[in-house]
Amino acid sequence: MFPASFDYHAPTTVPEALRLLAENGPDAKLLAGGHSLLPAMKLRLLEPGCLVDIGRIPELRGIRREGQTLVIGAATLHADIATSDVVRQAAPGLATAASLIGDVQVRNRGTIGGSAAHDDPAADYPVILTALDASFMLVSSAGARTVASGDFFLDYFTTALSDLEIITEVRIPGAAASVTSAYAKLEHPASGFLVVSAGVRIERGADGRCRTARIAIGGLGGRPFRATAVESALAGHALTPAAIAAAAALAADGSDPDGDAYAPAEYRRHMATVYVQRALEAAL
Ligand SMILES: Cc1cc2nc3c(=O)[nH]c(=O)nc-3n(C[C@H](O)[C@H](O)[C@H](O)COP(=O)(O)OP(=O)(O)OC[C@H]3O[C@@H](n4cnc5c(N)ncnc54)[C@H](O)[C@@H]3O)c2cc1C
Repeated sequence: MFPASFDYHAPTTVPEALRLLAENGPDAKLLAGGHSLLPAMKLRLLEPGCLVDIGRIPELRGIRREGQTLVIGAATLHADIATSDVVRQAAPGLATAASLIGDVQVRNRGTIGGSAAHDDPAADYPVILTALDASFMLVSSAGARTVASGDFFLDYFTTALSDLEIITEVRIPGAAASVTSAYAKLEHPASGFLVVSAGVRIERGADGRCRTARIAIGGLGGRPFRATAVESALAGHALTPAAIAAAAALAADGSDPDGDAYAPAEYRRHMATVYVQRALEAAL
């Protein structure tokens, strides 16, 4: 199928992109990797009259450390995140999540900002970025603001982003030797998107015990589900296999997932316990 016709702009700076968004109003859409937007346009689910391609803005790409914060440009490709030594060291769970997205072609076009903005409930980044306590730098002609992942991912395909804002950076705190992370995913056999997945971030004290844990689960609703019961069960405890298994058993506590023909709600809840345990074991 072909999309409806549209104007195409390829700015090379963020201010230029913001100006195009402001001039064209709700008729404009940002284009990053196009791997979610273009299928929606071909199906005529979206018919923007103006595409603003942000793929040629150098300042939106790249991965760097600022002290203990990992900073990733919004237009950085999944493939670059999956293979980055900096990401593998600072946030290994993020590198794993990126490596499990789609196939080689998708990973070489799709971007972290595009995936976050699209906010598919079956996408990988919302889950791991919630576990990592990431925040998003949002810029508009009115200024910039930072939004924490817990306030950014709101519901199915719904974020805190306005039509006039661009995600410029994803910021991940706590890149320290005492902090580790992991991601584990049950893929749908046909699409490769997640059925259930778990992202975990563990901070250990000098005695090796868990100081803090952040656990996010995908596939249990319209936004990543924070498994606070698991977090509380782990905090302050030695991370033995028995303690991990007991904590992981609480993964779906308080969740109320929607089921579907492939994965009924009870199956999702059970898989949540399995994949939280796998992610914790991988992290440790
Ligand atoms: C075959 C296939 C398999 C896939 N498998 C997976 C998978 O297993 N897991 C997974 O998570 N995803 C998967 N995806 C989705 C893929 O990761 C997309 O790349 C991603 O969802 C969107 O990123 P994009 O850069 O392509 O964004 P685009 O499609 O260009 O844009 C998506 C939306 O985000 C907006 N946008 C883009 N960039 C910004 C920005 N910087 N600031 C504000 N708004 C912005 C756009 O306006 C648009 O509304 C798959 C896609 C395909 C086609």
